[in-house]
Amino acid sequence: MATLWQFAQKINKEQCRLAFDEPMSRHTTFCIGGPADLYIVPLTMEAFAASIGLCNQYGVPWFLLGAGANILVGDRGIRGVVIDTAALADINVNETDPATDTACTDVTARESQVCLRAQTGVRIDTLAEEALIHGLDGLAHFYGMPGSVGGAIFMNARCYEHDIAEHLATAAIIRPDGRIESINSSDYAWSYKRSPFQEGGPLHGCAIASASFLLPRGEQLMIANTMRAKLADRRAKHHFDYPSAGSVFKNNRSFGKPTGRLLDELGLRGRRIGNAAVSPWHANIFVNLGGATARDMRALIESTEELVFRSTGWLLEREVLFLGEF
Ligand SMILES: Cc1cc2nc3c(=O)[nH]c(=O)nc-3n(C[C@H](O)[C@H](O)[C@H](O)COP(=O)(O)OP(=O)(O)OC[C@H]3O[C@@H](n4cnc5c(N)ncnc54)[C@H](O)[C@@H]3O)c2cc1C
Repeated sequence: MATLWQFAQKINKEQCRLAFDEPMSRHTTFCIGGPADLYIVPLTMEAFAASIGLCNQYGVPWFLLGAGANILVGDRGIRGVVIDTAALADINVNETDPATDTACTDVTARESQVCLRAQTGVRIDTLAEEALIHGLDGLAHFYGMPGSVGGAIFMNARCYEHDIAEHLATAAIIRPDGRIESINSSDYAWSYKRSPFQEGGPLHGCAIASASFLLPRGEQLMIANTMRAKLADRRAKHHFDYPSAGSVFKNNRSFGKPTGRLLDELGLRGRRIGNAAVSPWHANIFVNLGGATARDMRALIESTEELVFRSTGWLLEREVLFLGEF
């Protein structure tokens, strides 16, 4: 295999920003994580697709970074390439697909629905705000959730009983060889925090380039009120007081209660390893009190899993993804 330095020469530097040994703590909401060997920020969709194709062609391991709101990166960082989608942030209503240039008419046939198209790096807040500007409903519940369109679709993010996949009509995806093609969301199975892009799914190894959401028209004032209420609720629950990745574990109907309450009842709020702590306000959110290491956070997460298993027999399912070397 070529060295990463040699590999970097193949990347189109006019259409990508590149950095070696980029600290991932700058790019994760935990503010934790060691360096990525090679960090690439594609500025165009063509460069994004080409970077993925090249990584696969040269056998270079790669990871896609959205807003870094659901990952814990190890202190020793990530070997290989991290491709940050932040600059792929075009958004439009009822126009052509920013990735494939296909017209939107195919998915807007249904009356009173409008197609909102966003490239993968668009932040969820921006997506919801753009929907509001056009008087489109369906995304207000997601307002305040950190993350990008691509990350939300990959995770099938869920807020206030709504999955992001609910209004997803089509997506442009990048196949491992760098080809861009369009898919219909309804051709795939989506379930609680599961998407076809995750391990074991039929689109695993593909990247999300852009997404089209088919949204009903709504009353602007009501949409704005819902957004305001959701943001206020998150603030009241101290979501933004300390760096975190949101809920660490998924809910599970078998528990008969939200995972946060289960952890709460076991007295885990405030539990601490180093500067990694279970939030004093919400036991399913773990926070970085300042300078926490990935090792401490991981130990806190894994020891919580053990503790819950020993006390209740339940196996917690992790929502936060571990990445890189710890
Ligand atoms: C304060 C706070 C509150 C939160 N509240 C919620 C909540 O209410 N509900 C909820 O579901 N989550 C919540 N989260 C978690 C997080 O916001 C979501 O999981 C979000 O969808 C992650 O998006 P991201 O862009 O940050 O993804 P990242 O963390 O960057 O990546 C997550 C995964 O998506 C993959 N990915 C990213 N972009 C692409 C792409 N273009 N193509 C293919 N794969 C890609 C990555 O490779 C990775 O595997 C919260 C997090 C925080 C910090």
